[in-house]
This record gives sequence, C-alpha cells and structure tokens, in this order.
Amino acid sequence: MAGTKYIFVTGGVASSLGKGIISASTAKLLQARGYSTTIQKLDPYINVDPGTLNPYEHGECYVTEDGAETDLDLGHYERFSNVPTSQANNVTTGRIYQTVINKERRGDYLGETVQVIPHITDEIKRSIKILGDEGNYDFVITEIGGTVGDIESLPYIEAVRQMRFELGDDCIVIHLTLIPYLAAAQELKTKPTQHSVKMLLESGVQPQIIVCRTQKPLNENIKAKISLFCNVPVSSVIESIDAETIYDVPLLMREEKLDVEVLKKVGLPIGTYPDLSNWEAFLDRLKNPKKEVKVGLIGKYVELKDAYKSINESFIHAGAENECKVNVESIHSEGLKPENIKDKLKGLDGILVAPGFGERGIEGKITAINFAREQKIPFLGICLGMQCAVVEYARNVLNYKTAHTTEIDQKTKYPVIDLMEDQKKIDKKGGTMRLGSYPCTLTKGTKIYSIYKEENIAERHRHRYEFNNEFLDTYRDAGMIPAGINLQDNLVEIIELKDHPWFIGVQFHPEYRSTVAKPHPVFVGFIGACIKYHDQLHVAG
Ligand code: GLN
Repeated sequence: MAGTKYIFVTGGVASSLGKGIISASTAKLLQARGYSTTIQKLDPYINVDPGTLNPYEHGECYVTEDGAETDLDLGHYERFSNVPTSQANNVTTGRIYQTVINKERRGDYLGETVQVIPHITDEIKRSIKILGDEGNYDFVITEIGGTVGDIESLPYIEAVRQMRFELGDDCIVIHLTLIPYLAAAQELKTKPTQHSVKMLLESGVQPQIIVCRTQKPLNENIKAKISLFCNVPVSSVIESIDAETIYDVPLLMREEKLDVEVLKKVGLPIGTYPDLSNWEAFLDRLKNPKKEVKVGLIGKYVELKDAYKSINESFIHAGAENECKVNVESIHSEGLKPENIKDKLKGLDGILVAPGFGERGIEGKITAINFAREQKIPFLGICLGMQCAVVEYARNVLNYKTAHTTEIDQKTKYPVIDLMEDQKKIDKKGGTMRLGSYPCTLTKGTKIYSIYKEENIAERHRHRYEFNNEFLDTYRDAGMIPAGINLQDNLVEIIELKDHPWFIGVQFHPEYRSTVAKPHPVFVGFIGACIKYHDQLHVAG
C-alpha cells in the first residue's frame, strides 16, 4: 500500500472525553469514503495487559480474536468499524518495557545504555508502525490513553513528535479537548484548551485538528479564538457536542467534516459524501422502538458503568434489530436470596447472568438462575453465568445438593465445573486463561442452531474452568443438553434446556462480537424471546 497514513488522537483538559468514540467515528467515516482503517490504543499504565486489573480499576477487559486481553476501547473500535482487532491494537507501557528489557537481557543492545529515548520511544514507534507495515490499511489511528500533561504519557507524546518529524504530512494529530460552559458567566471557555495545546507544543507537538467536546454549540467567535491561539485553521476546529447516544457521533462528525479535514491534511482524495445509510437505519430503529422489554443483568459489578460494557452495547444492537427498547435493570447478585428472589426479579422479561470470577455473589446468581428456570423466564448465562446454570441444575434437578464449580469449592463431591487438565499446571495469573476465538460445532435441532442458522461457529473465550464431561450423560438424560461442542478438545461450549422456552448458557462471550453492522445472533435471539415472554404475559393479563 502506498504510504499508510498515521493519525494520533490525544486528549486534553480532562479524561473521559471520549477519545475512543472520536477515534472510532473517524475510522467509520474514512471507511465510508472507501479507506481501510485500523485503530490502536496505547495505554500508559505499567500492567502488561488489563487482564489482571479488576473492573473497579478499568472497566471491562475486552478480548480479541487472537486472545489478547485489552482495553475496553477496542470494543468500541470493533462495534463501530466492524473490523476485528488483535494484540497489536493494544499496547501498554508495561508491554513496551517488558519487550525492551527482554531485548536488553538477550544482549540486543550490548554496550549501550538503555534509555527512555531512544529505546523506549523506538519500541513505541515500532508497535505503531507494525500495523502500517502489514500493508493492509490506508490509516492507522492511534489513541493515546490518558491526558496531555500526565507524566506517564510523556514517552508516547515524544514518539508522536518523532513520527511527525519523520513522516511529515503522512502523520497528523487530532487533539480532543473540553470547552467548559460556565453557567454563572453564561459562556463557553477556551482557556483550558489553549493551555492543553500549549502543553503539547512544549513537547514539540502541534495538533492539526482540534475536536472540542462541549455542552453548547460553538459559535464562530469561539472557533476563531481557538484557531488563533492554537495555530489551526478555523475549519480544523471541530465541534463535538454532547450526543444522545455514542452512536450519533459518526453522523455529527460527518456534519462537522472531521473526515474531510483529515483527508485534506494528509493529501488524499476526499471523494463523495460518506454513505452511512445502514448506520442511520440502525439509529432510526434504536430511537423509534415499537416495543419495550425489561431485562435483568445480574452480576457483582453492576454499580460500575463500564464493567459490563460489551453486554450493554450488545443489548443496544439487539434491541435495535428487534425494534425494541431494552431497559436493563442492573441487579447485584450478592443481595439475592431464595426468600427475596421473587420480589427482586419482579417484572423482568429476561434474565442475563454475567461473567465473573471468584466467590462473591455466586450463590445469588445460582438463586436467580433457579428462578428463571422454574418460572420459564428467558435466560442467558455467559461464561460464569453458564457455569452457575450447570451448578444450579446439578443441585436442584440432579439432586447433587453439594455440587459446585471447583473454582469455589475444590473438595466438592460433584465437581460439575472443573479445571481443564492443562490449566492445572499453570501458576501464573496474567494471560494464562483459555483466551480468544475457538471453534464450536452446534447440534442440529437445538434452539441455538436455529439462532445461528449454521453448524460451525467461532466465539471468543476468557476462562479457566469447563463443564466436566464425567457428568455429561446424566445431564443429557435429565434434559440439559450440550448444544455446542468444541470437537477438538471435546469441551461443552453451550448448554440449553429441553423443557424451557429459552434457557441458554454459553461458555464463551458473544458480547465481544456484537457490532452495529452485525448484532450478535445470541443477543438478538434472547431479546426476541424476552419480547415473546412479555407479550404472552400481557395478553394473558
Ligand atoms: N471464573 C470462571 C472461569 O474462570 C468464569 C470466567 C468468566 O466468566 N469470564 O472459568
């Protein structure tokens, strides 16, 4: 490919301005103009990957096809662009240093003093260019985590400076910043933006485009002021007004001509107005639902906005597909007990039990599953949610009262969920699970087969424990059937119940693969079942 172009997205003034959404929207618009894109996130923390961070620290851990445990922004990239990401799309300071230190130990730098500049910055640049060198993309969009001015981001900003110096106009910087509105003065304020651009300039980086997050429209005066103080033409000052949903942002950026500005700067043809009609149709369905359902999301991190990000987004995609508003009620599993379950789960049209690790809240999850099974409420169990469904069935149908997963009770007489043999030998924590995409063969005639409408699927995993095949025949005879199997390792990947309208557990994470262009069939099917359940209840009165 003749010269991949590099776009960096930096953030100023405050965190959480939505660099990930701006990066993903830029990619979406460039794609719609016929350019191929990939998006990468550089995270300044020293963890090698976010896999060992708990969701309180960093929200959900997103898993790619090739099994990388990554930042949740990669989920946005995939949901917007419908292009899978990989390990190369998420780099942390920890990974950079680990690589450099390994090289030093190997003797690659013999005789040299190993330093931040050039060794760390070279490694940062290498991990950016690697995506361009593949030759598959017209644009590599790299989001720099953190906010300009953070000590830990400095080597990244220095790498950006060097790349601009080396590549000239083949490399541009979009700086996302905040224009606060001061109610007392009734004014939008540009000073924080001026300061954050100055801070970038101190590091030798002049942004080419400034995207301004704002609550109120920016008038021409404000744009002119930002232009003057920050050295960019007025047309490169882009307003990013608060939107009703993140999915509005590509359309808003199209109106603001963010893509046109990018193409002008890098000297590529602008072409025709981007056709986003499928995206608009999705938004139209999302904003004008014909029905409404209420789904319970049961987990132990429900108070955290980002802990189940991909699940919540999958509900949005599947809701739009069904032209149905999905109201998600987050329910803490810790508080669920047989004596309050009816009350706590009142009015739900479907129950999703979330993935998770460890003991906290697990009995509550099992209690909720028991309720969904007995009351014939649509149920979807994901990963730990599926494992809990297997435990619930053992205890209450097979009558193995003390059955458990060995993650919680290593000595249980009925280890219905158990560690895989090759997991038993591992003593490290990071990156040692069954991670990434694995094939699965669906059993014809099952509900899940009618949902996927194909026999061979591949889905992403992130777990250590598995369905214990010793108990397989007993389950099958009782009515819980293995509906999807990994034939290579003979692992049960999907269970469903024969005598229930919609009760499915999946060992993998369908939520990682749901996008606007392709809402995930399992979620679409689940919401369909919730609608049916809702309608039946209400017709029946
Ligand atoms: N803790 C379970 C396991 O390791 C489930 C993991 C998950 O839900 N992602 O197998």
